Amino acid sequence: MRLHSAILSSLAHHRITSRFRQIYSLQRPANATAPMATSEDSLRRALAEKQSTIDASGNTIRQLKSSGASKSEIDEAVKALNALKLEKTSIETQLKASISGDANGSVMSRDAFRQAVVNTLERRLFYIPSFKIYRGVAGLYDYGPPGCAVKSNVLAFWRQHFVLEEDMLEVDCPCVTPEVVLKASGHVDKFTDLMVKDEKTGTCYRADHLLKDHCKDKLEKDLAMSADKAAEFKHILAVLDDLSAEELGAKIKEYGIVAPDTKNPLSDPYPFNLMFQTSIGPSGVSPGYMRPETAQGIFVNFKDLYYYNGNKLPFAAAQIGQAFRNEISPRQGLLRVREFTLAEIEHFVDPDDKSHPKYSEVEKLEFLMFPRDLQMSGQSAKRLCLGEAVSKGIVNNQTLAYFIGRVYLFLTRLGIDEERLRFRQHLPNEMAHYAADCWDAEIESSYGWIECVGIADRSAYDLRAHTDKSGVALVAQEKFAEPKEVEKLVITPIKKELGLAFKGNQKMVVEALEAMSEKEAMDMKSVLETKGEVEFEVCTLEKTVTITKKMVTISKEKKKEHQRVFTPSVIEPSFGIGRIIYCLYEHSFYMRPSKAGDEQLNVFRFPPLVAPIKCTVFPLVQNAQYEQVAKNISRSLTAAGISNKKDITGTSIGKRYARTDELGVPFAVTVDSTSSVTIRERDSKDQIRVSIDEVAAVVKEVSEGRATWADILKKYPAHTSASADE
Ligand code: AMP
Repeated sequence: MRLHSAILSSLAHHRITSRFRQIYSLQRPANATAPMATSEDSLRRALAEKQSTIDASGNTIRQLKSSGASKSEIDEAVKALNALKLEKTSIETQLKASISGDANGSVMSRDAFRQAVVNTLERRLFYIPSFKIYRGVAGLYDYGPPGCAVKSNVLAFWRQHFVLEEDMLEVDCPCVTPEVVLKASGHVDKFTDLMVKDEKTGTCYRADHLLKDHCKDKLEKDLAMSADKAAEFKHILAVLDDLSAEELGAKIKEYGIVAPDTKNPLSDPYPFNLMFQTSIGPSGVSPGYMRPETAQGIFVNFKDLYYYNGNKLPFAAAQIGQAFRNEISPRQGLLRVREFTLAEIEHFVDPDDKSHPKYSEVEKLEFLMFPRDLQMSGQSAKRLCLGEAVSKGIVNNQTLAYFIGRVYLFLTRLGIDEERLRFRQHLPNEMAHYAADCWDAEIESSYGWIECVGIADRSAYDLRAHTDKSGVALVAQEKFAEPKEVEKLVITPIKKELGLAFKGNQKMVVEALEAMSEKEAMDMKSVLETKGEVEFEVCTLEKTVTITKKMVTISKEKKKEHQRVFTPSVIEPSFGIGRIIYCLYEHSFYMRPSKAGDEQLNVFRFPPLVAPIKCTVFPLVQNAQYEQVAKNISRSLTAAGISNKKDITGTSIGKRYARTDELGVPFAVTVDSTSSVTIRERDSKDQIRVSIDEVAAVVKEVSEGRATWADILKKYPAHTSASADE
């Protein structure tokens, strides 16, 4: 999403840094190499070379035929041509595999993998397309029972990891937001995406999506494309988010892109505001919007929260809640939706001191980082030490780094694969002018690298914007131990003189004089002293007026100050909970053959922390005694706070295991006697034998992470049974 280039000059602009893009040239930077995987690049070149050898070989055969060469000579040349064609087919296969991410040929393609995950998720009701019986609405999804449980586990861990461990102040603000708040934040004017319309049917499309589809389609299907052309398309894909309306429109025209459904021509791209508008109360005179993010609720409460915190900085406020964005044409399943849960933190800090007291706890962490210089020079993300990134000035400050580290720990503890997690720094032209530094936690899924958490140092922009609009000073104070002597600029407009000269406009001239910076004021003073008058531009009047010496006095005075008043900076980690959960589903999913080897069975290897149910309880056979034991165990698990489910159906134990593996349940208790039971671990399929009295305590210990399965294995006798398999 984007703001328009014209808006760049405006001060009151968009707060969503990832959406706030300056125009990014379509020309590749001189030092950038084609952002194409080397293997893909060399395969394209090999294919082009093979094609020209084939063409030359075809010409040779035609010449041989026309010159009446012998049959054996022609047969030999045809044989050579056929061999070349086979080699070409092999390169094409490798190239297709490289493009689709199926580079080693044995792994499932990305699309097939996604299909398998999504089928399982839908069949087991992790999610359901909303309003399905009425054919659904794009971009709206329900969470079914296991999905709800996973989401509530993720949110509980978020609260534990951030709100509790960092002592944050949690708030819960309304979704319906009056217009004035979102006007101040810039959303009313600038929260837009560029849209094109089918000129005949009026169907709407996101302009950048059409260009993206075109480039991807060409790269995938036109294998004979030159490496240079491929690099051009890849470059467009890399800078897509940064293109202006004009640049997008020009590319759509240049490539002859038409409406995908009808092939009709398309309009020029134009901005569409993504907020759902509403009206507060019955009169219709009070416009409002469904909030597009939760952050504004925190900013407008800053004054009270600061007071609640004992007027001390730094402190952080947090909020979990629904956000609404009327996406133009939502695709990518759960990744781009019209209503989603955001979990946001606003950490308020003194702009002159962005150190963090707990920085030493994260500075040694190492993970994939993608600083802007690596991106600009066409390289890939690298494993870097967070502390080094700060000391080398790659990450702007300790507090921002602290949150990057904490986000890394949060995501990996949830079960995100750290090899498919990287922190990508925003390019300078991706950031709003006020932002000091921004990093996105991106997770690789079958859709590519997806921004799941944005971590931005937004400086003082948001609090200033609400101070200006509301007239309420959202500021902090630092009391000095000893009063400090400071030199202060004093501008005193002489209202009587100004009133005589400017009458009704006096107030605006006074305000403009008082708003002068120190440099402007001192320049005015020296001109007034030498020339007696000066031309002065009053923006609010949209004209220049003449100020004379009699109208204003400007001086510098020494004053004793007891405190410093300033607008705090804000560091904002913003988590798209649905995106994190979907990536977690993909990273946790795998298939393994059934015991008979005739079926592939689905498994989610969720860590116990996020598993929707921690334990299932099965009587091995249908029998009243075993069922009673199963009921008792289930009750004791529930009493210990461990979510569990009984399955007393007569289905074979193997099938019941397969059913629970597909829900990602980490442990299964099987009742096969009235004194002891077995506990099976989902991924290893190892079983141990535990007495009935101990079972709830053991499952609790291992589900809550106080012991690992390996610890448990050492303590209890192993149980071997063919039935652990499916
Ligand atoms: P933003 O304010 O645009 O930086 O978004 C904050 C976070 O919200 C992103 O990092 C995403 O994880 C998430 N997000 C943004 N838009 C959507 C959407 N349409 N559907 C789901 N999640 C989203």
